[in-house]
Amino acid sequence: MSSIAANISRINATLPQGVTLTAVSKFHPVEALMEAYGAGQRVFGESRVQELVQKVPAMPEDVRWHFIGHLQTNKVRRLIGLVDMIESVDSERLLAMIDAESERAGVVTRVLMQLHVAAEETKFGFTPDELTDYFRRRAFESLKATHICGVMGMATNTDDAARIRTDFTLIADTFRTIRTDIAPDLRGFDTVSMGMSHDYPIAVQCGSTMVRVGTEIFGEREY
Ligand SMILES: *Cc1c(COP(=O)(O)O)cnc(C)c1O
Repeated sequence: MSSIAANISRINATLPQGVTLTAVSKFHPVEALMEAYGAGQRVFGESRVQELVQKVPAMPEDVRWHFIGHLQTNKVRRLIGLVDMIESVDSERLLAMIDAESERAGVVTRVLMQLHVAAEETKFGFTPDELTDYFRRRAFESLKATHICGVMGMATNTDDAARIRTDFTLIADTFRTIRTDIAPDLRGFDTVSMGMSHDYPIAVQCGSTMVRVGTEIFGEREY
């Protein structure tokens, strides 16, 4: 067994039923992705539009591509119809563009709303208040060709397990509040994507349904 295949089966063995593994393959060559594919992996995560667009035709058709990076509105069109899910919707402006381009292409695009809870400064993602406000306003009702499937988030990049747990709990709590209290009628809102190589076991304990693991599968990236 290749080490990539061994890594995938080792990780899968630790994931409870109902938790999906997204193999984050950014910066890794198609040969590495094919090794993962050979081990049964079907969901792959990429964070750059150009790289994803180039890999799609080089991989089998039943691969489900997830876009996980910051997406500029002027690049949305290139992804529509290619990706199974855009996990990183970080603004209403981006969501509107995804919806418009999906309608234009005659497809429905599945997305996750990205929450920003980590300590790092970034301008990407909704705060929990912004996201709950979005659903309270029922702004999603105007979407024509976009299906909001849940939330995505990252914990602070730290070795402090307590801090990581606090961040993941906030993401999961925000998800539950939206699902249970604010928009219980929203169909198919069932995904909590959180957990990366160094923190996915904690994320799973905190209620993750989808982990995004790169380094633990493919090794270190060479940028
Ligand atoms: C790169 C990346 C990952 C995977 O990170 P690893 O530490 O290599 O597992 C997960 N999520 C996002 C959003 C990423 O950009």
